[in-house]
Amino acid sequence: MEQNTSDSDHAVENLTCIVCPRSCVIKVERDKETGSIISLDNALCKRGKVWATRELLNPVRIVCSSVRVLGGAESLTGVKTDQPVPKEKIIPVMNVIRNCVMRAPVSVGDMVIENPADTQCRIIATRSVAARQITG
Ligand code: SF4
Repeated sequence: MEQNTSDSDHAVENLTCIVCPRSCVIKVERDKETGSIISLDNALCKRGKVWATRELLNPVRIVCSSVRVLGGAESLTGVKTDQPVPKEKIIPVMNVIRNCVMRAPVSVGDMVIENPADTQCRIIATRSVAARQITG
């Protein structure tokens, strides 16, 4: 987000929309004191306005990471949140993931952690890991 100009009451910023490849640069005018949105311009469609409003007032992200796997053919599996979480919860969620260890086998879609950092989401596995074959 780029801060462009401002006067005494309003601040104007440019926000590049990431919803589709057109990458419209949405001009946002906000009240400096309250942060409320006064106007949104240059978005070619409603989806961009919805995205910009959420990005400014309640930004959320899907969190992706990896978790250690014991007894597996590989030592890590990929994981992600099953829904976007508020940006300020990303580090608390990562801290929960960092302390997690799974046991093989792991299948895609397995629930790894429920309600990490009180986000009401679930962490799910995004990669299968077979149990290690014991030979000899
Ligand atoms: S405003 Fe609409 S057309 Fe423009 S980048 Fe966003 S989604 Fe695409």
